[in-house]
Amino acid sequence: MSWVEELASLVTIERSATVRELHSRDVSGHAGVWPDAVALPENAQQVANVLAWANQRHIPVTPWGAGTSVEGNPIPIRQGISLSLERMNRIKEISLPDRLAVVEAGTKYRTLNQQLARSGWQFAVEIGGDATLGGMIANNAAGPKAVKYGSTRAHILGLEVALTDGRLLRTGGRSAKQSCGYNLTQLFAGSEGTLGVITEAIVRLTAEPAVREVVLARFGSVREALGCVAAMRGLDAGAIEFLDHAYMGFLGEIAADTLFCEFHTAGHGAVAETICRAGGAVSVERAGAELWAARLRAYTASQEANPGARLLTTDTAVPVGAFAEMVAFLQSELAGRRLTGYLLGHAGDGNLHVILPWRSAEEWEAVAAFQRAAVQKSLELGGTASGEHGVGLGKRQFLEAEHGAEAVGVMRGIKALFDPRGILNPGKVLPEGGGPGGSEE
Ligand SMILES: Cc1cc2nc3c(=O)[nH]c(=O)nc-3n(C[C@H](O)[C@H](O)[C@H](O)COP(=O)(O)OP(=O)(O)OC[C@H]3O[C@@H](n4cnc5c(N)ncnc54)[C@H](O)[C@@H]3O)c2cc1C
Repeated sequence: MSWVEELASLVTIERSATVRELHSRDVSGHAGVWPDAVALPENAQQVANVLAWANQRHIPVTPWGAGTSVEGNPIPIRQGISLSLERMNRIKEISLPDRLAVVEAGTKYRTLNQQLARSGWQFAVEIGGDATLGGMIANNAAGPKAVKYGSTRAHILGLEVALTDGRLLRTGGRSAKQSCGYNLTQLFAGSEGTLGVITEAIVRLTAEPAVREVVLARFGSVREALGCVAAMRGLDAGAIEFLDHAYMGFLGEIAADTLFCEFHTAGHGAVAETICRAGGAVSVERAGAELWAARLRAYTASQEANPGARLLTTDTAVPVGAFAEMVAFLQSELAGRRLTGYLLGHAGDGNLHVILPWRSAEEWEAVAAFQRAAVQKSLELGGTASGEHGVGLGKRQFLEAEHGAEAVGVMRGIKALFDPRGILNPGKVLPEGGGPGGSEE
């Protein structure tokens, strides 16, 4: 019996070219790699059984949520099994008194929020990708509302995780406050499927804001726009987003350096409007949900507008006070290197993306060199290589520069504890070589 036939005796599998191709890549420019098979478990025990069996057979397993990552995170680069959580999409419980929901990991966050509509409660992390909660936890996704609500990790109370030895681990619980023992829940937030497969999550629900005041302000310069961001501190901002004039023009909008902001206390929109006018805005509009829809479509629009191109998206995040310096640095690097790149970012929390289209090996070298310069500057400013997209394939090279050799050594020890044979999402997060998580496992 081949290993694929053995796998098929444990769980439903798909081997068609269409399904394997779909699970070979995410939305990034990283090259796709087809898995040998796609496994479609229906419950946590099946996930655990697959892991225990694959561990014994040394077969790579790469978890798959919805494949909306932008850093190669779910690409099964060592082939083997793409383990899709798509059939584990049940919302098991919504408890408004306890302000939590219990969901299977393949549940889309939008489905949960649709279910919560009109309840006055929400899962508060909002991102542009149609992602699963398991994928969002695994990448520690964030998005525009992080300035108020934080990243996904702030919204998980507990997890059920299948481990490579076949155990089902429960972490955390239902209590809003927890201070008992090591925080295993948070260890899996941002682990990108390299330590275990999240099968279920207890997620925190947050009250919907009673007020949403949206302000769109256009400026003649980045300096003026970001000066206004600094002046808005103290307002009840649900989001403060910056898009540069090149990006707005590219989206078919008025080509001005632009702030999109949302406020959750009545009157704060008017205060922001006054700040923007005093700060040199050439126009200020008050609007609603359609502006958010346009902002959340930004990444998709970049892809549609660049047929045939791949995209590299930087994801540096710096302390908020250094955001203007980071933007100025990146703009001068783009100009000096004669690169096309579109700046958009979460100005409220210091996280900035530059989207760089590339089409040839030569162009790839140029955009990759730009990214290295961006990360180096971010680290100099006390920032990070990745604010929300995760390490995936593209940012492994920066892990040691950011955390230091000792911290990366501890990370390798954690990887070895949970995944001694290196079967889980191999070749991700940890840098090449040097033991578990490196390229030799
Ligand atoms: C248009 C668009 C807009 C986006 N906007 C944002 C944004 O604003 N902010 C942001 O942070 N991201 C954004 N993203 C990126 C993406 O949506 C997130 O990274 C998201 O977390 C990926 O979730 P997913 O369900 O698609 O997971 P996948 O891409 O399938 O997987 C993500 C990673 O988690 C692992 N994984 C998946 N499920 C599990 C599980 N159950 N257990 C363990 N590991 C698992 C995978 O192996 C992989 O490493 C955007 C993407 C798109 C396409």
